[in-house]
Amino acid sequence: MENKGQSPHRRWNPLRQSWVLVSPHRTQRPWQGEVGQKAAPSGIAYDPKCYLCPGNSRAGGAVNPAYESIFSFVNDYSALLPDSAAGPEAQASPLLRSEPARGLCKVLCYHPDHSLTLARMTRQEIRPVVDAWTREYEDLKALGWIEYVQIFENRGAMMGASNPHPHGQIWSTGFIPDEPAAETKAQGDHLARAGRCLLCDYAAAERAATQRIVFENEHFMALVPFWAVWPFEVLLLSRRHLGALPALTGDERDGLADALQRLTTRFDNLFETSFPYTMGFHQAPTDGKAHPEWHFHAHFYPPLLRSATVRKFMVGFEMLGMPQRDITPETAAERLRACSEAHFWPRI
Ligand SMILES: [Zn+2]
Ligand SMILES: [Zn+2]
Ligand SMILES: [Zn+2]
Repeated sequence: MENKGQSPHRRWNPLRQSWVLVSPHRTQRPWQGEVGQKAAPSGIAYDPKCYLCPGNSRAGGAVNPAYESIFSFVNDYSALLPDSAAGPEAQASPLLRSEPARGLCKVLCYHPDHSLTLARMTRQEIRPVVDAWTREYEDLKALGWIEYVQIFENRGAMMGASNPHPHGQIWSTGFIPDEPAAETKAQGDHLARAGRCLLCDYAAAERAATQRIVFENEHFMALVPFWAVWPFEVLLLSRRHLGALPALTGDERDGLADALQRLTTRFDNLFETSFPYTMGFHQAPTDGKAHPEWHFHAHFYPPLLRSATVRKFMVGFEMLGMPQRDITPETAAERLRACSEAHFWPRI
């Protein structure tokens, strides 16, 4: 017997202006059972071979200072360079279009301790990371030619992170990349049409519905979005309407540190593993224009589906057609709500 929510349907993502296919009935198909092998977090506080640990040398010869809190530097293997003067040669066909791309790629170490993750850092230790992200956004904006600052973290080998040391990246570009560009358009459209902020309206709808909210603190709200693609995808929304990190008050920065700590701990506890993900902030572009439509938020895109080792792949119909999910966002939120906020693998 199928009720309405259990039948295949598609859901609209108003922030990207795209659809996702939801097939909850598929979770009833035969399953081979969970694979074990839960990853234990690394217990090594200092790794002499790690290029991010304090005092170690990096490729190219630079030596990290003996930092005690956060530490940032320009990526030794940057995907973008500040002076990319000439683009490729002009092509005869207008279909073969390209242009020079300038940017700056930085790495931000969150903590000197090699064994930690955001989940196992304290709120007091995460706060300097929030401050550093804010400073980087302001400094990069002040350069004048940076149009977007993308702060993100790849966590875990499953997401391609080459080093377990707690760190994230900041890629800033002389253009607005596609994802934030799509969200700029969607939020601008909504403001023009409704006279209100898209994500403020969305937060109100989720608060009324309640079933997709994982938790809230005084300043932030963590929820599995109605249109989530990844099984345990989470959207972290500021409760106040603001466009970017520098607009956060001191209390709100503490609130962000608190929300990041609680969310990543719940993630780790879900399958008792160091939960892999790609996370990042979306905020107002730094292109010199006013962006009243922009509402600051973070996306968490974790690949795990059923256990510490079984992940979702975006292949087949998803590459050729559209994204698809089995477990509903409502069920995912319920699972995350049931997780403890005390880490299963505490710091010693
Ligand atoms: Zn390290
Ligand atoms: Zn808003
Ligand atoms: Zn976004």
